[in-house]
Amino acid sequence: MTQLIDPFGRKIEYLRLSITDRCDFRCVYCMSEDMTFLPRAQILTLEEIFTLAKVFSELGVNKIRITGGEPLVRNGALQLIEKLGQLPGLNELVMTTNGSQLDKFAEPLMAAGVKRLNISLDTLNAEKFRTITRNGDLKTVIKGIDAAKKAGFQRLKINAVILKDQNHNEIIDLVQFAIDQGIDISFIEEMPLGVVSDHDRSGAYYSSDLIRQDIEQQFTLLPSTEKTGGPSNYFQVQGAKTRVGFISPHSHNFCSTCNRVRLTVEGRLLLCLGNEHSVDLKQVLRANPGNEEIIKQSIINSMQIKPEKHEFVLSEQPVILRHMNVTGG
Ligand code: SAM
Ligand code: SF4
Repeated sequence: MTQLIDPFGRKIEYLRLSITDRCDFRCVYCMSEDMTFLPRAQILTLEEIFTLAKVFSELGVNKIRITGGEPLVRNGALQLIEKLGQLPGLNELVMTTNGSQLDKFAEPLMAAGVKRLNISLDTLNAEKFRTITRNGDLKTVIKGIDAAKKAGFQRLKINAVILKDQNHNEIIDLVQFAIDQGIDISFIEEMPLGVVSDHDRSGAYYSSDLIRQDIEQQFTLLPSTEKTGGPSNYFQVQGAKTRVGFISPHSHNFCSTCNRVRLTVEGRLLLCLGNEHSVDLKQVLRANPGNEEIIKQSIINSMQIKPEKHEFVLSEQPVILRHMNVTGG
């Protein structure tokens, strides 16, 4: 089988698949308040998404993460996921969600073959939750986490973006919540993707090292041997099942082991989260109906422009103009 290998010798086996740019939340670090979403004609149909995912799986991609926007707000998402769950080359089908629809979808997702879920949760305070998400309801998400636990996923993980003076004082509470729930948690440094209106990103920067220091006031973190091939650096909480991860795009660059690419819902293949290098697969797909060989060749060729690494500079206007909901976080 042809494998996807970039000029830096990195093997690409992981696709992050954004199936919508829409969302029922408006998180302050992800979107501006008055987002304009893509018109329908501009986004891939579910059939087109499936075709592209299938071609990737035939090129050695064995892990797909479904994301967005909020993936579960797209009509027909479950039917797409059921089909993805049957792709023979795929070992891992996973999803990142804000949890708002999990009460309804946790069981069917599990039945469709989704193995693991990342659920975003930045605060346990209902009022703060509403401020950060601009309109989300904490209770619904907690209910969603309960439903996911009941459904029996292989692994559940909370993703928390930490912003100085907004939720940095909740780090210990969030770890304790993860321990009580028997699930994992990752802390994420905010990335400068798109212009956001409510806060100054450099003022809100709270590094992974500071987060770790805070956690170690209360818990002992043991180095974990686990390597996911991803950007998370894991520790085991002593005496608990919970692992704590740190995703540190600013303070600890993780590009040398990058094994992933992203497909936006517009059909743009992004070769790097922090650079604009991309290939328009929607154009290739629509210009060559039924010709999967041409798509395959475009994907293989695209590896040549995968950048070596990202550079994020918080003090400057974002170089990357697309927001995270468009990027597929
Ligand atoms: N809506 C889903 C959710 O929130 O989990 C999936 C998409 S969201 C874009 C994926 C992840 O990206 C979430 O965990 C979110 O917290 C994170 N995220 C969004 N904007 C970010 C930013 N500017 N910097 C770092 N992480 C961000
Ligand atoms: Fe929506 Fe997720 Fe972005 Fe929040 S982080 S606005 S839940 S896509």
